[in-house]
Parts: sequence; structure tokens; C-alpha cells
Amino acid sequence: MFDGTPAHMSSIGGVRVVLHGAAGEVTGSCTEIITPTARFLVDFGMFQGGPEQEPRNTVLPPVDFPSLAAVIVTHAHVDHCGRLGMLAKLAFDGPVLCTEPTAELLPRVMLSSATLQQTRVHEYRDGTAPTSRILAPQNLVTAIPIRKSPPIVLFTHRHAEAVIRRLRSVPYQCWERIAEGVDVRFHFASHVIGAASVEVRVQLPGRSKAVHILLSGDVGPLSNPLLAPHQWPQDAPDLVVMESTNGARRFSAVDRTEAFFNIMEQARRGQQRVLVPTFALGRAQTLLQLLASASRAGILGGMPVYLDSAMAVRATELYARNPSELASSIHAECMRGVNPLHFPELHALMSRRESEAIDRVSSGCVVLAGSGFCDAGPILRHLRLAIDQPDSRLLLTGHQLDGLLGHGLLHGATRVEINGAALDVKARVDRIEGVSGHADANDLLEWLRRMPELPKMVVLNHGAEQARDALAADVRALGVSSVLLPSAGQQIEVA
Ligand SMILES: [Zn+2]
Repeated sequence: MFDGTPAHMSSIGGVRVVLHGAAGEVTGSCTEIITPTARFLVDFGMFQGGPEQEPRNTVLPPVDFPSLAAVIVTHAHVDHCGRLGMLAKLAFDGPVLCTEPTAELLPRVMLSSATLQQTRVHEYRDGTAPTSRILAPQNLVTAIPIRKSPPIVLFTHRHAEAVIRRLRSVPYQCWERIAEGVDVRFHFASHVIGAASVEVRVQLPGRSKAVHILLSGDVGPLSNPLLAPHQWPQDAPDLVVMESTNGARRFSAVDRTEAFFNIMEQARRGQQRVLVPTFALGRAQTLLQLLASASRAGILGGMPVYLDSAMAVRATELYARNPSELASSIHAECMRGVNPLHFPELHALMSRRESEAIDRVSSGCVVLAGSGFCDAGPILRHLRLAIDQPDSRLLLTGHQLDGLLGHGLLHGATRVEINGAALDVKARVDRIEGVSGHADANDLLEWLRRMPELPKMVVLNHGAEQARDALAADVRALGVSSVLLPSAGQQIEVA
């Protein structure tokens, strides 16, 4: 099934798939599809997880970039699109295809990434880079990640702008020809606004039936309260390349809304400051939907909610402007002129100055700020001010990366260092499970089961090894005869 030939060296009569990233891990998504008439990439994501992962982004996959027919982007999360800005340097001059909302988001994501890369260089030079680590208890102690060399600039604004000019949006469900005999189309993935699964149809010479491949991208939960449900292809795919982020997890059926409302109620009564680490696209909007419900139920009772992320504010506007991508009940609200993610207590903070102004707020409040892993961004500054205050709370709602501050706080850190200040953890730390943009194992299996026919072959990507292994066993039990867990660079022959 596999051979050791680098993808760009092979000459083929069939269709091959190569994972160049997210193979046994959750970042760096990049899959190459090779047909007799065209090669193209689906996603060109960044490897994430701290300074030690950064150099991996400079190691390019063995892809002949100038000859690619297209680069297709499933959605605007950095682990799927974070290296697009490098394409201009790699002499790629084809189209970058994505859905309309993703085409609106990508310029902002790429330009702010270019700014962030430059900022990191300045912070490194000036010795002002944000830092955090766990000081106690002993079993959780972490070291401040040491940079052995200056931060890497993968691309500049100029490079990003060159790629932005290559963006082309394609409506969901519409076939787009990218080369002779090769067509692609997008299906709702119910993960974040604009997210898509990608169906590839390849008509091989002399074959009566086209080869169909479905690349899941990131798959959202099946009963997503915010986004429209998934779409499945009409033709049975020969191969499904499928994410496995939560392949080993099953979220309990306990209603997260009640737990969330209880925390908000306690915060309002106790005049507590609740810090909620979040990501700008997806997690922020899921939390805003919960907060909007809390507001309508009178639970917030005027307690201010600060959304401390210009990117999250812009992404939230995009949700309201694309009602057809939202769950039907939310769609109906939009049609009545109600913004489902807006409520009277919500305040958007668009600058550092506005962010610093809420340091003086002494009443109960909720602060949504990035990063969701608590390793960078404004949440670090908010944590430094609040983590040693008993009337503060930290509410964690998603997966925390091992070794980073959020992970340590989730697992009982009692003393931490944030931006040089050693602090006792006196804030209460809560966790609500299931506020995830990713399907759990049950939903991933059900998503696969709802294909017109079970595929003969499934390739699992975008999951840690343990998650991939667990999902592989379940997919085999479902009746799929060939479940592959390739490493990066291995070629998979489809037809
Ligand atoms: Zn994603």
C-alpha cells in the first residue's frame, strides 16, 4: 500500500494521497492529492505547540509547489492555513480555493500572523516575550520554554498579500474544475463558520467510474447548536481521509448549559471575575451563544462580558452575516433581525488600550480572551492580575496542550509564574467539557456511517497517536476493511 517514493518523484496512472502533516498529531494539516493530470494540496497548516515546534514550519514537504494546480483550504484555523503565506515565496501561482466565509477570514488571519511573527522577533530582541510556567506542585513543574534561536519569520505582509490575491471562493456543493478530469466541491463540516469537507472527483482515462475521495477537514459535533448540520456526498467515496482529534473521547450527555449557567450565576452573585481562555474562531462564538442564552434567561443580570479579541469580534460578525450556515433555529432568529451572538452585556475590546481599561473593573465580569491554551495573548495579562485573587475564576472549556500553562492549571497547579511574577493560584479553576468544535468518537463514527456507503478505505489524520489508534479500532469494527494510519510522507494508493 505504501512506497517510499517522494510524492514529487512519482509518475502515476492512478490517484495517490500523501499526508505531509497532522500525521499522528493535531497540527500541521497538509494533504497532497496526486492524479495523472494534477497535483494539489488540501490545507497548508502550521505546526503549533511552543517554540520547540516552530522550526518544523520551515521544513517544507517534498512538494513541487510551482506545479501545483491549486491549494484548497478547509477552514481558517491556523493548523490548517497557517503556512499559506509562504506560498508566494515557493513560486506557487495557482488559485487558493475555499468557501466564501473562509475567504473573508483568511486575509485577516494571514496578515495578523505576519504581524505576530514580526512582534515575536522584537520581543525576543528586547527580552519582553511573554512567559509562563508552573512552579508547584512538583509533579506539574514546567520550565520556561527556552528559545535556542530567534523566532522564525515564515512570511511577511508582502508575502501574505501576494497569496491573498490568489484567494478564490467557491460556493458549497458546487463542483469546481481544477484540472482536466479533476473536480472538487465543498460540504458543510459544522466545525466553524466557512469550514468544509472537500470532495474530490477524479476521472481516470479508460475508467467508467470516477474515483471519489472525501477529506473531512475538521468535523464538528453532529448536533451543533450554532452551525448548520453536515452535508454528505451523494456518491460513495472510495477513500475518506478523516480527522481523529477526539478519537479516544466521548463527551458525556450532561448538559453543559446548566453547568455554565451555574458558574455565571455564582459569578454575578459573588461579584467574581471569570476568565475564559478562548480561540477567536469557533470557541469564542460557541461561548457567546451560551452567554447570550444566559443573558436572555436573566442570569447575567447586567454583569459585563468582555470579548478581548479583535479577531474574535470580526469572526463573530461573519457568523451573523451568514445565516444560511447557522443552525435552523439561529437562522430563523437572524431572519427576524436578531443577532444570535449579541446581548446587552457584551462589550467588544478592539485594542490593547481597551483591554487594559478593564483591569480597573472591580465588579463581577466575564473576560473572553486568547489564547485558549493560556500560553500567549491577552489572557496571560488577565491571568497575571487575577490568578492569585480568591474572588476570581478561571473557566477552561477545551483541550489543553500538555506543558502549557492552561494544562497545568487544569491539573491542579498551586503556584505559577506569569510574565516574571510568581503567583499562588487562589482563583477557582473550573472546567466544562463538550464545548468543542470537534466531533467526539461517537459523532465521528456516525459521520462516517452516514456516507452513502461505507468506504473500503479510511485514512486517519489530525489526531494524537492514542486518539488515532482508538478511532481506528472503532472504524474497523464498523466494517471498513482498510484503516490506515500513515506517517508523514507515505503515499497511499487509492486507485
Ligand atoms: Zn479547526
